[in-house]
Amino acid sequence: MSDTSAPASPPPSAPFVTEQVAPGVFAAYSDDADACQANSGIIDLGDRTLVFDTFVTPAAGAQLRQACVELTGRLPDVVVNSHHHLDHSLGNQEFVDCALLMCEARTHELMHARFDAFTAAYAECRRLLDDPSAAAQSGLSTHELQEQIRAAALVHPTLPNVSFSGPLTLHGTRRHVTLVPLGACHSGSDTVLWLPFERILFTGDVAVSGHHPWLTDGATHAWVSALEQLKAYDPAVVIPGHGRSSSVDALQDTWTYLHALADLTRGWSTAEVEQASTVQPMPAAFERLASPEAFGHNLRRYVAQRRAASTRDTESGR
Ligand SMILES: [Zn+2]
Ligand SMILES: [Zn+2]
Repeated sequence: MSDTSAPASPPPSAPFVTEQVAPGVFAAYSDDADACQANSGIIDLGDRTLVFDTFVTPAAGAQLRQACVELTGRLPDVVVNSHHHLDHSLGNQEFVDCALLMCEARTHELMHARFDAFTAAYAECRRLLDDPSAAAQSGLSTHELQEQIRAAALVHPTLPNVSFSGPLTLHGTRRHVTLVPLGACHSGSDTVLWLPFERILFTGDVAVSGHHPWLTDGATHAWVSALEQLKAYDPAVVIPGHGRSSSVDALQDTWTYLHALADLTRGWSTAEVEQASTVQPMPAAFERLASPEAFGHNLRRYVAQRRAASTRDTESGR
């Protein structure tokens, strides 16, 4: 870590730990998989405080808000979501009084749909609780349903009130930051936050450190290209979406992982795809990564993306 690193004080009993990666620039690392799951950032712009991503629970979001006061001396004014996944956005409701709650335009569409699905799942849990035979078929116990309903009842999915397209720079009296939309990478739309003077990059889930990345609704080919674009920034510090702060290594390691998926799955049969987590032993380089359950999922997801791209090429005559 650079000599600008210094410990910072998180709120008492916070489910995250904070680290000052430069004066006035803080990373908040998940220290509780249930409460936070992902990382966030707090950046003092001088006259305003910006939050990047809001954790997965309102309780953690509230403590992140409190951390802004303790670390920057003011409540947050600007909140940015890197992408639409719940582990980066369900804390939004704690920031509704911020003047700017922002995300990229496509992210906004995806978040709207994801929040609708969250609300529908909550309604389904309530329905199952009133229908024991359907609950039995779902495989969920009454206790599990009650727990899910109890947790979901506290959540009021909150969409950003501003969306943007293309790079956007926010100028403060102390520093400026640039939001860089990358298109579909890890998700259907990902945005990173870049501090050009300090050369600090907050990546959301476009990069992870010490974790398996997670292939979801994005486009892995474009993701690889985006990582190459970000490596050209030559960041001094990378704050990933999951895991602790890193250097450009977090970008390189994620890039290497995605390339390894391509190598491992080249020429796979349908049966091999269906048994992805068993037919293909985990490469030694990945054995120490957190979230090992992601490996089989990622193999299957990668092959599905490749086949979909191949079908599109065939249909378009390419
Ligand atoms: Zn995440
Ligand atoms: Zn994600």
